[in-house]
Order: sequence, then structure tokens, then C-alpha cells
Amino acid sequence: MPLLNLFKRKAPRTSKLKIKRKTRKTKAKKKTIKKTSKKFENRFQKFYHLNKTRLNKERRSKYKDHKKIGICVRCKRKALKGLTFCSYHRKKQAEYNKKRNK
Ligand SMILES: [Zn+2]
Repeated sequence: MPLLNLFKRKAPRTSKLKIKRKTRKTKAKKKTIKKTSKKFENRFQKFYHLNKTRLNKERRSKYKDHKKIGICVRCKRKALKGLTFCSYHRKKQAEYNKKRNK
């Protein structure tokens, strides 16, 4: 009889503790998963994904306007003849192309 009583007392206590620990761990994991999968990593990404169609339209229209007028596409300086870049951004673009072709 005393042996049975000991088992009865000990068994539920340990199991309760284990369950508590497990629930805590799973809760923490669920939170991180929700943040990464459902929501956006930060407010800037959220803004971009919610407004990307409008933002991309604005960028393209700005590119066309600058190209027509003859202004650099990346800044407000005058573009070189037959190019969409100013002298500074032409150099920058050449550097990017070198890196890409390596
Ligand atoms: Zn420029």
C-alpha cells in the first residue's frame, strides 16, 4: 500500500512539470514562426510590400521623365549624351558591371 501511494503522488507531479515546460517552449516557437511567416520582418518591408505597385510605378515614371529631359536617372545632374547617367553615376555603374561580370 505505501509503495502504491508513493507512485501515485510522484507520477502526476513530474508529468505536470514536463507539460508546463513543453507548453512554454512551444508558445515561444509559435510566436517566432508567426512573426517570420505571416507578418513582415520590419515596418519598412511591410510598407514596401503593401505599396510596391505604386512605388514601382512612381520609379518607372520618374525614370522615363528624367530620360526625356536629359537628367541623370539616379540624381538631378545633367546626363551624358546618349546615356541615362551623369558622369558620377556612369562610373558607379561601370563598377557594378565589373563586379557582376567577375
Ligand atoms: Zn547621377
